[in-house]
Amino acid sequence: MRLSQMLFVTLREDPAEAEIPSHKLLLRAGYMRRIGSGLYAYLPLLWRVLQKVSEIVREEMNAAGAQECLLNQLQPSELWKESGRWETYTKAEGIMFALTDRQGRELGLGPTHEEVITAVARDMIRSYRQLPLNLYQIQTKFRDEIRPRFGLMRGREFIMKDAYSFDIDEAGMKLSYGKMHDAYHNILRRCGLAFRAVDADSGAIGGSGSQEFMVLAAAGEDQVLYTEDGQYAANVEKAVSRPADAVPSGFKTYEKRETPNTPTIASLAQFLDCSPTQILKNVLYQVTYDNGMELLVLVSIRGDQDVNEVKLQNELAKLAGDYKATAVIDLKVPDAEALQRAAQPLPLGYIAPDLADRYIRPSKTLVAQFLRLADQTAAELEDFVTGANEAGVHGVGANWGSQYPLPKLVLDLRKASVGDRALHDEQQTLQSARGIEIGHIFQLGNKYSKALNATYTNEQGEEVPLMMGCYGIGVSRLAQAAVEQSYDKDGIIWPVAIAPYQVIVTVPNIADAAQMAAAEQIYQALHQVGIESLLDDRDERAGVKFKDAELIGIPYRIVTGRSLQQGKVEVVKRATKESTEIALDQVVSTIQQWISAALAA
Ligand code: ATP
Ligand code: MG
Repeated sequence: MRLSQMLFVTLREDPAEAEIPSHKLLLRAGYMRRIGSGLYAYLPLLWRVLQKVSEIVREEMNAAGAQECLLNQLQPSELWKESGRWETYTKAEGIMFALTDRQGRELGLGPTHEEVITAVARDMIRSYRQLPLNLYQIQTKFRDEIRPRFGLMRGREFIMKDAYSFDIDEAGMKLSYGKMHDAYHNILRRCGLAFRAVDADSGAIGGSGSQEFMVLAAAGEDQVLYTEDGQYAANVEKAVSRPADAVPSGFKTYEKRETPNTPTIASLAQFLDCSPTQILKNVLYQVTYDNGMELLVLVSIRGDQDVNEVKLQNELAKLAGDYKATAVIDLKVPDAEALQRAAQPLPLGYIAPDLADRYIRPSKTLVAQFLRLADQTAAELEDFVTGANEAGVHGVGANWGSQYPLPKLVLDLRKASVGDRALHDEQQTLQSARGIEIGHIFQLGNKYSKALNATYTNEQGEEVPLMMGCYGIGVSRLAQAAVEQSYDKDGIIWPVAIAPYQVIVTVPNIADAAQMAAAEQIYQALHQVGIESLLDDRDERAGVKFKDAELIGIPYRIVTGRSLQQGKVEVVKRATKESTEIALDQVVSTIQQWISAALAA
């Protein structure tokens, strides 16, 4: 492509709307334009990158035995009502754009496709002989993100590859999952990215095992905890660990003590001159279920530890049935308004695990009793310090079974953190890294097939629900993540495999006939051997052209400048800025070798 004929607009300044490097660079280099909140036009250079990423995804999916299809983006509400997700997706979480057509029918714009694919499977899969099966598509998804940001990282319209596997049983599902796991490794490696597969929370999609593929970058929204030996890596939302040992308590008999102005663990530990590991912290949460029921939850946890709200929410979701609900729609520390609704002012900062239910003023939607939960670290405490349900007063030397009954539910509700010992090996401590979630693979089980009644007939002639897996990759997010991982002060440095063009031929002075002729000749020769190149034949100063070439991040730049007199051209590698002079008749074959080597790496 000739730059003189291209929509090619670069900016010298960072656009104000962008915060992270990759977002700034893609805007500055003319890859995309913002059209509205979370909405971007993918311009020609970016579209080439997206197609390259898609092609790698496609090749690896096909190699893993998956088949490409294209599902509809407009999805009838009926399907989502069958799975029970219509209300949560359109109202509670509100992530799905919903609309009503002229006939008054409700539709959603696909944020994901479990419902649609399960409906297809219900229709078409009859027998075990048709299984296993894996279908995928590469398509635009729509999500009404509450906070679209960082450009393509969190858009409201973005490109996703989503795949769905169908198997006869759990073992088959695990096999399909394993294939996708390997395919994802291949995809990210081929895209030239540094990444890590981590244990992940399964969230609203449901199901059991899941892993996320994280591209490592400082600007990543996710925190990953891992061990140096490579045996463990998890999203902090899901991570488990062994906490530091508690310091044995010196409070041997139970008594109440005046502890004025000690509403925080730090202030209390200082006042009593004890370790936070000797304190029992009782944290109040307010949960709202999808049927409108509200519940106050009192979580007891060791003073030096924090509650992992994702784990807590998952446990509360499991209990939904007890409150005639199916899902949690909100979990938070009670706000001022909720606190005012208490029957009497709560002793905040001084709460004991036996805080009386009479503090609650029950209503039709508010459960009259606290749900009391204990983290494992809390259950293990002895002779501990905790609130006395009275401002400025704590109890010391307390024990479960003596002063307080241990809550019936003792769970892992703790946030694992850097420095904790790993469960698999005490010598290994958790390290932390930031990651961008590029892909997420799930073992779904039969959640959707049961809900939508998608069954098949097994070898014994019985009708059983299909076992499913689902597998997503954010294609547009991946493209930007590649930039986030690879840039310098002058611009983008694309991995060769997904660069929009592999080579840019720069003519320093287009008025010089020899320079133009050599450039044309190289440009044609590159084309003949299948190397994609740009020809910068614009009437611009050489300096401007060099800057633009660096900004847009094309891996190799060929300059038909001064060295032409010796029958040579200058070739510059974008990543290292290393420059070499190569004879005209060798430049194409040399670059061909470099590209093959880069793609094989
Ligand atoms: P996140 O936790 O980042 O909101 P998610 O867990 O909701 O993502 P999935 O439903 O698993 O995402 O979607 C599969 C993939 O699609 C994600 O791994 C991510 O790469 C991509 N993705 C999800 N939401 C967005 C978005 N708003 N913009 C761009 N890509 C996205
Ligand atoms: Mg996810």
